[in-house]
Amino acid sequence: MSTLRFYAIKETFNRRPVEVKEPERRSAIFGQNVFNETAMRQYLTKTSYNSVMDAIETGKKIERSVADHISTGMKEWAIAKGATHYTHWFQPLTGATAEKHDAFFETIDNGQSIEKFGGQQLVQQEPDASSFPHGGIRNTFEARGYTAWDPTSPAFLYGTTLCIPTVFVSYTGEALDYKTPLLRALQTVDQAATAVAKYFDKNVTKVSATLGWEQEYFLIDKALALSRPDIMLSGRTLLGHSSPKGQQLDDHYFGSIPLRVLNYMRDLETECMLLGIPVKTRHNEVAPNQFELAPIFEETNLAVDHNSLLMDLMDKVADRHNFKVLLHEKPFAGVNGSGKHNNWSLATNTGVNLLGPGTTPMKNLQFLTFFINTLKAVNDHEELLRASIAGASNDHRLGANEAPPAIISAFIGSQLTDVLDELEKVTDGKLSPQEKTDLKLNVVGKIPEILMDNTDRNRTSPFAFTGNKFEFRAVGSTANCANPMTVLNAIVAKQLFNFKEKVDGLIKGKKMKKDDAIFNVLREYIKDSKRIRFEGDGYGDAWEKEAKKRGLSNNKTTPEALKARISKKSIALFEDLNIMSKVEIEARHEIEMEEYAMRIQIEGRVLGDIARNHIIPIAIQYQNILIENVRGLKDIYKDDFEKYGGEQLILVEKISHHIESINKGITSMINERKTANKIADAEKRAKAYCNKVKPYFETIRYHCDKLELLVDDEIWPMTKYRELLFTK
Ligand code: ADP
Ligand code: MG
Repeated sequence: MSTLRFYAIKETFNRRPVEVKEPERRSAIFGQNVFNETAMRQYLTKTSYNSVMDAIETGKKIERSVADHISTGMKEWAIAKGATHYTHWFQPLTGATAEKHDAFFETIDNGQSIEKFGGQQLVQQEPDASSFPHGGIRNTFEARGYTAWDPTSPAFLYGTTLCIPTVFVSYTGEALDYKTPLLRALQTVDQAATAVAKYFDKNVTKVSATLGWEQEYFLIDKALALSRPDIMLSGRTLLGHSSPKGQQLDDHYFGSIPLRVLNYMRDLETECMLLGIPVKTRHNEVAPNQFELAPIFEETNLAVDHNSLLMDLMDKVADRHNFKVLLHEKPFAGVNGSGKHNNWSLATNTGVNLLGPGTTPMKNLQFLTFFINTLKAVNDHEELLRASIAGASNDHRLGANEAPPAIISAFIGSQLTDVLDELEKVTDGKLSPQEKTDLKLNVVGKIPEILMDNTDRNRTSPFAFTGNKFEFRAVGSTANCANPMTVLNAIVAKQLFNFKEKVDGLIKGKKMKKDDAIFNVLREYIKDSKRIRFEGDGYGDAWEKEAKKRGLSNNKTTPEALKARISKKSIALFEDLNIMSKVEIEARHEIEMEEYAMRIQIEGRVLGDIARNHIIPIAIQYQNILIENVRGLKDIYKDDFEKYGGEQLILVEKISHHIESINKGITSMINERKTANKIADAEKRAKAYCNKVKPYFETIRYHCDKLELLVDDEIWPMTKYRELLFTK
């Protein structure tokens, strides 16, 4: 092993930045490999084109005969660009994207062949999907699952394969993927938000949720990453003593980007441009070798697809540059982990950002309506929102005093706090003309100005308002954004439906004017959602105590957090909105619990293997060197040998102590694993892995890391933190 470490280090000495070719202008290649509007105009008949556009804009069904035309146009476009294969591209519940390529190539009579891609192949496919997680759905219902075209996300060319974004459902209609519930949630929030937006502007006919993600990641030299079995198999280091220098000096954050990395980024961004992923920002992050990439925001479904595609692309491009991308939330102990902030808002088809303050009091009342309703939604469903970002790897990050805590709260800044405090004082019932004028002039009317200089930004908040959008910061870097986005849009939709009902009730029942009714309902919501608002330090212990008093959940581990997904309240929410059925929710819950247990199981096995088969033998080898040394000293100095060999003997004993602790820890961990594996219930098994197996990781690691400090560097088998984090 130590030879592998030194071989890897040697490899990195010879690395040079890989030359990349960039286009003169990015705008010239943007979307070149996407079957977008421009391509459709060129390759489709007018009827086909209109049919796709209708499907995108209004969800209208595409006729089979039209689908045949579309598929032909799509095929011609793709082949002209060098495509040989096509695939339905979908997002099963494994978290990764899935593809199964079929060639366009078909044989016909007389040994001849043609390129074929019909409407049927475009619209629907039946991948042999028996190995994808389904949480029992396909056992209970129909064995098969199928993928179906999602025209709202355009087809694209990836390498030489035409990829068609699809949903993945069982034959009885249950969602087996991330996209299906997301699309349903987006439709619902459109419906709910459009109805409310009409209070302010009758011309609004559609509201889209927008998403701008910020992807954090680590970039490690490929040879070094390959030399570590833990990184290769679990995506993170399971042991390794911290480097003397970490991120203390803050010298990496926003620093000059190392050339090898910069070339990687340029290459990646060019690929993104071709695929229509509108990446815009790149910079160094806080931890050494940590970076970030962010696009211009888009409609949520497209943004989610683009993030999934990006994660795959990052890996592929990294290989060309002899890097390994680590998307894990916590690849290294002792330095920051990675997240994926989800910036979210709602936009009307008339081009208005509903969470952006406007220029008139009426527009600001609209802003406040959506702003306060979002706060209320988060207040009422904080535990479900927490569950939407739960996962074994994100557990390391949440509450680790560097990332948002496991407690969901919302930060809005002092100026908006003042506005809400004023609004809370609004008269119950009809407002006097004087009060209204006052509100319009001094409270609602003042919003644009004050937000302009709203510079306070609280980095410790998991859900922060940042001027014209909310930023959900607790999302993990490996996450498929569909999960949190489904939940966020669902709870906001539910809330907006309730709001509309209340306001209409006051208008009709109490004969109130629309403005009065809106002010009255908002006032109550402000009172009801106070507990979710928190402006202070989210990392502090004081907040944990305070949050507990407020009755906010603080679910620190995934098995604990996931419970909220199957609560009566959550099931009712999703069923009411037709986003997910009880069967679908429970299946997902089971899949997530199983995944959690499996991830911890894999980590436990890898750690046991490394500690027992790589570390202990080396520790013994070094101990033997020490023993040999003492024996030599004894030969020379006879009874006086301890004067010269005393320290060595202490080392010998220390090494034995660590070896013993490691071995005992592994044995106990394996026993706990065996017990856990016998538990049939997925939730109980996940809990056993969390509470009985996982705690051993820390003790085993502790003793391994101590050995790292004792054993001769020349023979140490594991590539060290300083080598992983500071090789550029
Ligand atoms: P940071 O949070 O790093 O300071 P910004 O606030 O400038 O950066 O923006 C972060 C992200 O927010 C970007 O990806 C941007 O596209 C996204 N964003 C901006 N406006 C919206 C919006 N209305 N809806 C969704 N995302 C948005
Ligand atoms: Mg941000």
